[in-house]
Amino acid sequence: MADQIDVAIVGGGAAGIAAARHLASLGRSVLIIEALSRLGGRAHSVQLGGMTLDFGCGWLHSGERNPLAALAGANGWTIDRSDAAWGDQLHDLHITAAAQRDAWQAYEGFVHALATNAPQSDRASDAIPGGDRWRPFIDGLSSFINGVETDGLSARDFTSYDAAASDNNWRLPGGYGAFITSLGAGLPIALDTRVTAITEDNGVRLDTNRGTLRASAAIVTLSTTVLAQGAIRFAPSADDQLHAAAQLPLGLANKLFLKMADPDAVPPESHLLGRFDQAGTGSYYLRPLGRPIVECFVGGAEARRLEDEDATAFAIEELGGLLGADFAKALSPLAVTRWGKEPTILGSYSHALPGQADARKVLARPVSDHLIFAGEACSPQDFSTAHGAWDSGIAAARWIDRMLPP
Ligand SMILES: Cc1cc2nc3c(=O)[nH]c(=O)nc-3n(C[C@H](O)[C@H](O)[C@H](O)COP(=O)(O)OP(=O)(O)OC[C@H]3O[C@@H](n4cnc5c(N)ncnc54)[C@H](O)[C@@H]3O)c2cc1C
Repeated sequence: MADQIDVAIVGGGAAGIAAARHLASLGRSVLIIEALSRLGGRAHSVQLGGMTLDFGCGWLHSGERNPLAALAGANGWTIDRSDAAWGDQLHDLHITAAAQRDAWQAYEGFVHALATNAPQSDRASDAIPGGDRWRPFIDGLSSFINGVETDGLSARDFTSYDAAASDNNWRLPGGYGAFITSLGAGLPIALDTRVTAITEDNGVRLDTNRGTLRASAAIVTLSTTVLAQGAIRFAPSADDQLHAAAQLPLGLANKLFLKMADPDAVPPESHLLGRFDQAGTGSYYLRPLGRPIVECFVGGAEARRLEDEDATAFAIEELGGLLGADFAKALSPLAVTRWGKEPTILGSYSHALPGQADARKVLARPVSDHLIFAGEACSPQDFSTAHGAWDSGIAAARWIDRMLPP
């Protein structure tokens, strides 16, 4: 491995790339150490059927203040700023417009209650009135947004995110994953290299499956679930941070892409929710960006169940129920993600368990002058997103730079 460097950055996702770029721009020597054979982590675009599909992050949330949107624009990437179709139900299929309004009002009432009259338990589900007929709808939305249903979600944590987020959700037709990965070009990177232990010893010593590396400091950006499972051995000084990681597990959301033989069967940029009366259902984005595909999204318990089953059959059946057997017959599978089974990631995005919103601060607190964690879960308000990961990487890099001799 390389000779001693200033900062070893463990994990080459959005946080790791941001940290490495920032430190390199300050003249620090860095090395990104990534277990996979590619950069990007949960930012992952794949070329399929002549299209760039985002298997992980796809939306530049809070676009007007998203640092990655600004960077994409500055680097000449085309940004699609059209409104997301998530709230639409094409042709009011299977549910009247009035019932949809009721459902959305129930969701907005839930979010308002979390912000203004949060339950003592901090368990988000306790803000839903008992017997509310829209509880499955609210749980379904939570499973898409948080990767978990409301009974596993901290009210305070959710509100921190929601209060700071805007309705500007933009896209990069060239791929959000491709863009983030491109930002790592030219940085020193060791791919296929898994860190197994980090010891503080006159700087840091990193043991990997390919040898040992010494650095003055390290920034560790692994997902919380991977950290909590002990993928890297740390000294007891990191116990608080590792405990915090366990209180911020990754929820699960997966995508499934279906190719349409007859794209004209539905309008571009339209949407269907599989069911309003059941949490375990798909959210179907029809012809996103005008493409001849359906992008399906499943979350929470249903996403976990479908990782072991035929997710494509499930989606095609729900779509057939909504749009008819002929529509379903004209669909063919392109790809399915299984983020929960990706051993170096183990899920999709972090949420705080009820009562554990403060764990984010603990995780982001430096372990020592030589060691700090970063990654989406460290962001106080933009956790679960790529730009939250990005900002956390820069914050960690700034801190480490201050600790190192000039
Ligand atoms: C299906 C899905 C949809 C999403 N949609 C959006 C969206 O629309 N908008 C948005 O902003 N965000 C979205 N996200 C979330 C976003 O992708 C993540 O929050 C962000 O990419 C996380 O970046 P990170 O750097 O914190 O972590 P990661 O990307 O997980 O990077 C950590 C890296 O560490 C590596 N690693 C693990 N163990 C080791 C080890 N022992 N040694 C070395 N390397 C190791 C991993 O392989 C990984 O590459 C989505 C995620 C998913 C899965």
